[in-house]
Amino acid sequence: MTANLLEFDLDGLAAYCEQLGEKRFRATQLFRWIHQKGASDFAQMSDLAKSLREKLAGSAEVRALQVISEQASADGTIKWLFDVGGGNAVESVFIPEDDRGTLCVSSQAGCAVGCRFCSTGHQGFSRNLSTGEIIAQLWFAEHQLRRRLQLAEGERAITNVVMMGMGEPLQNYSALVPALRMMLDDHGYGLSRRRVTVSTSGVVPMMDRLRSDCPVALAVSLHAPNDPLRDNLVPLNRKYPLHELMAACQRYLEAAPRDFITFEYCMLDGVNDTPELARELVALVRGEHSATRAIGPVSCKLNLIPFNPFPESGLIRSPRERVQAFAKVLQDAGVVTTVRKTRGDDIAAACGQLAGEVQDRTHARERMSRAPIRLQPVSSPRNPGHH
Ligand code: SAH
Ligand code: SF4
Repeated sequence: MTANLLEFDLDGLAAYCEQLGEKRFRATQLFRWIHQKGASDFAQMSDLAKSLREKLAGSAEVRALQVISEQASADGTIKWLFDVGGGNAVESVFIPEDDRGTLCVSSQAGCAVGCRFCSTGHQGFSRNLSTGEIIAQLWFAEHQLRRRLQLAEGERAITNVVMMGMGEPLQNYSALVPALRMMLDDHGYGLSRRRVTVSTSGVVPMMDRLRSDCPVALAVSLHAPNDPLRDNLVPLNRKYPLHELMAACQRYLEAAPRDFITFEYCMLDGVNDTPELARELVALVRGEHSATRAIGPVSCKLNLIPFNPFPESGLIRSPRERVQAFAKVLQDAGVVTTVRKTRGDDIAAACGQLAGEVQDRTHARERMSRAPIRLQPVSSPRNPGHH
């Protein structure tokens, strides 16, 4: 079978080249051709011996993902839909800003966690992406954009990667880690650890493994300051409740490239956006909450994400004033808090709107439509003006 060289991090490629009787420095050259120059044709790799190029042509290829569609938003955001076979498709989103270019990368076709407010979660789960399928999103976007923006040799289009596309990256750990290593590798994309972010809904044991295997920046999708509400919004909380999650965050900080964890909090109208819950959140991160009393304060930044609606969710975005009021409670308590700008929502490329095409094997849609909706804040009365 033809090997796909996108599947190999540098050590993997060295092992592969060794099988062909080649020294490690050849693997490094080959790796640089593929990832730094975006080459996929071995004939082009002029500093490799002709005999090696011929050997490679007979046994290997650089197999990119097929692009099904590309959509550009009025704000410069670009969304690509990639075919990953078997009726599945995944999405990547490029978000340009003044001082950086961020690529949001998918890790699975679908997602098995099934968060209520997430379009991917509603699609159910089909399968994990391979290392090659994860890195192919960056390989394609980086080299495509370099050509399109006519960047000079050595200039980068993508300066930051966030694993915030479709899927729960820490439920696809073994494919994720080599892909992260390729992003960090100086012979690959050369991104610093602080510019690569893994976002997780809280797979506690894998947070610990990531801390020792490849400690990149970490974002944790919190969405609620207490277990009853979080159980409802992020079903994984029933397995790894807040006191375990917060302790894992605390441990992660020992190795993290930044001295804070980013907590993401999706603002849902009448569900998790009251001032009482903001105060409970302050208590949680300060170590003044039953879930954190044993571990003390957790150094963090809060990122409030206005909910991006999609038809099946039955949920509504919090009004701007409520988001501002929530942010103010946090800020007044000294918790660094930002409200995320919504980008690319005109092309359904905003957080949680990525749905791709998923051959659901978990019957998520059925399950979610049967499940009772109990999404009121548990610890505080609803805003009376709201009924
Ligand atoms: N599975 C990982 C990473 C992908 S989701 C995780 O959950 O962290 C990336 C981010 O988008 C998460 O913080 C997630 O909670 C948020 N998100 C999901 N659906 C959303 C929606 N409809 N509106 C706004 N943010 C959403
Ligand atoms: Fe999965 Fe993340 Fe969506 Fe939850 S928010 S369903 S963990 S992709």
